[in-house]
Amino acid sequence: MESLKALYKIGPGPSSSHTIGPSEAAKYFKHKYSNVTRYEVTLFGSLALTGKGHLTDYIIEKELKPTPVTITFDPHFKRYHPNAMEFRAYLGDNKIGSEIIYSIGGGNIEIEGKPFEVKEVYPEKSFTDIRLLCEKNNWSLVDYVLHYEPDILEYLDLVFTTMSDCINRGLTTTGLIPGKLKLERVAGAIYQDALHIEHDEYEHNKMLITSYAYAVGEENASGNIVVCAPTCGSSGVFPALLYFFYHDLHLAKSKILEALMVGGVFGNVVKSNATISGAKGGCQAEMGTACSMAASGIAYLLKEDTKRIEYAAEVAMEHHLGLTCDPVEGYVQIPCIERGGVAALRAYDAALFGKYIALHRTNRVSFDEVVAVMKVTGEHLRSEYRETALGGLAKEYKEKHRE
Ligand code: SF4
Repeated sequence: MESLKALYKIGPGPSSSHTIGPSEAAKYFKHKYSNVTRYEVTLFGSLALTGKGHLTDYIIEKELKPTPVTITFDPHFKRYHPNAMEFRAYLGDNKIGSEIIYSIGGGNIEIEGKPFEVKEVYPEKSFTDIRLLCEKNNWSLVDYVLHYEPDILEYLDLVFTTMSDCINRGLTTTGLIPGKLKLERVAGAIYQDALHIEHDEYEHNKMLITSYAYAVGEENASGNIVVCAPTCGSSGVFPALLYFFYHDLHLAKSKILEALMVGGVFGNVVKSNATISGAKGGCQAEMGTACSMAASGIAYLLKEDTKRIEYAAEVAMEHHLGLTCDPVEGYVQIPCIERGGVAALRAYDAALFGKYIALHRTNRVSFDEVVAVMKVTGEHLRSEYRETALGGLAKEYKEKHRE
């Protein structure tokens, strides 16, 4: 498994696979073919079907400028991955090079014909391997991360600062989110409402967490800087809870960074054994993973042991199984922003399940098992439900709001 730095990527929203990945691909291609007169780029599959709403064309143009680029959209799918791009470089009328590049989720790319270089930092292949190693050495999951990445704290500090900045910006910005849905930002209003809930701590806390998740979701949908956790679309879930524990419950920042390590272990297990890409596995791969990361991080902050932390992560994923990706008009707005709020609350509940229900009965389903089920379920989802905006809410909304 790779470094947590490769999981918690920092970059512009609204989509890790539709903006950060294509941005990386364009930078790579521009570096390889710099002295050219023009570029052509074809976006295939999911990138063609939701690329406009996800700002894929905008980000590619931005990376390749000042050289002119023509972008075309081809809804056909390449067999290897639903997010494919063909870059072509020209000197006058002569094509001097081309590459097929895949955006495989979480901002990562693969170049066709080139061996995919995964810099393995963690040799373990599954969460069971990790748990057994921890038991053998009497390690916590934090000890495990620090064993392989002793210098990770500095980066995680940047990650949490970026998450907090994003929430603060989201809470204080009003107006419309860019795009033709003309959706109003509401995070700041939800936060103000939460502050005025005085006699019900349960509702007060839940609405605070919701406002933080919305703040990130609205920043992401506006193309601003977020931290993939594990993706842009699902980037509000984990920060909402971490910020709540830090800002409202006054936990030490060192504990928050440790929770990021614990959540990162579970995100990494999903990334390397299944997928975190909505185009490949549906929203269960994005929100399900984000919820598992957040649930495990919160279970750690609640001082649970590794088995109960695993319980929390498993519950969080299990009850997202089958969740489809159907962004309305291809924008990462409906259902994504609201879904981030729901997943944040669900993550807290999953952490409490790990804390209380695990006292009475051992969980029968391991985290590795639920990840394997998520992968197969994603393979069985029709492409209409995997980031194409052709099914589900996207289809229903289009039919009901046809002009
Ligand atoms: S529905 Fe889920 S997977 Fe699809 S774009 Fe929205 S957040 Fe991402």
